[in-house]
Amino acid sequence: MPFHSRDHLRREMMFSERLKRLTPYVPGEQPQDKKYLKLNTNENPYPPAPKIKAFLETLDPAILRLYPDPSSTALRETIAGKYGIGKEQVFVGNGSDEVLSFCFFAFFDSARGKLLFPEFTYSFYPVYCDFYGIEYEKVPLAADFNVDIERFLRKKRSCGVAFANPNAPTGMCLPLDRVLSLLDRYPRDRVILIDEAYIDFGGESAVGLIQEYENLLIVRTLSKSLSLAGLRLGFVMAHEDLIDALFTVKDSFNSYPCDRLSQMIAQMAFSNEAYYRSITEKIIQTRERFSLEMRKIGWHVLPSKANFVFAKKDGVQGKEVYRLLKDKGILVRHFNVKGISDFVRITMGAEEEMVRLLEEMKKAF
Ligand code: PMP
Repeated sequence: MPFHSRDHLRREMMFSERLKRLTPYVPGEQPQDKKYLKLNTNENPYPPAPKIKAFLETLDPAILRLYPDPSSTALRETIAGKYGIGKEQVFVGNGSDEVLSFCFFAFFDSARGKLLFPEFTYSFYPVYCDFYGIEYEKVPLAADFNVDIERFLRKKRSCGVAFANPNAPTGMCLPLDRVLSLLDRYPRDRVILIDEAYIDFGGESAVGLIQEYENLLIVRTLSKSLSLAGLRLGFVMAHEDLIDALFTVKDSFNSYPCDRLSQMIAQMAFSNEAYYRSITEKIIQTRERFSLEMRKIGWHVLPSKANFVFAKKDGVQGKEVYRLLKDKGILVRHFNVKGISDFVRITMGAEEEMVRLLEEMKKAF
């Protein structure tokens, strides 16, 4: 701001130095002005499981009189049952953004070296680092845009590694043998955090490795494949000592980050596997068809294992694509960041929505 009024300056005196240093994460637009076709924040185009609708219709508000279970025991047992682990190996929080932030606080400390993450990955990671004062180093992706584990392993000293798999915003997924190779060759006293927000859309999960690798943290969300972005529920699976550490963070911050309703609804989501399998399959098919059609009209589309694709066309900037589509009532995401500013990230909508987008793309570019 070029001009600061006296009043404003006085109010600024109230701000901590910590606050002044923050540069917050900017989430994708959630516009309230008109109805857009929203293909910009990787939400699921299909509704949550039908059981959840039935539950909400018969809900007794009296259940909200009491605080929820601060340890979310029943939900953790349900998640543990699904993945064949113990509830002591599960931590839940208010969206994976919150659990990621707790993980960064608990396990990454630059006294032991910098945190390593890919140059292009979920852009909240550097924000958490700045929030907690963790030094970090961005490791370039390979030429094909995949995460390059050899580059991570060549770094002499680091306090941990974090990456999304499938990665965002590229959608590209490391196969399990590459993840294993990283786990085998990285120091066992440093945490490797794998953010599997998009794993259900075709990637190979590393969750089966948490018994063997005590330094492995798997972070998941109910916002994507379970179509519950509005619920705010994320979870971590790891060795119970790491989970205990996350409870220490939570209980030093907020006893009840997961409210009563979200704990109950999340549990229902896990008992509707057939429904979720069918909508996930539809999204995968849409992604494959859409990628193919886009390539036919000259777009480079990175091979995606997520519910979105990252695409570009020679001579066109991401911002242009974003603007033009917004005028047509369609929202996609672009990043004003050197190296990927010519790409747009497009969330998979329902099949007919993607047909509409494709028509606009054919006309415009
Ligand atoms: N991780 C990745 C890679 C993401 O793209 C997102 C979605 N923005 C999240 C975590 C956060 O998801 P949520 O907080 O909704 O669980």
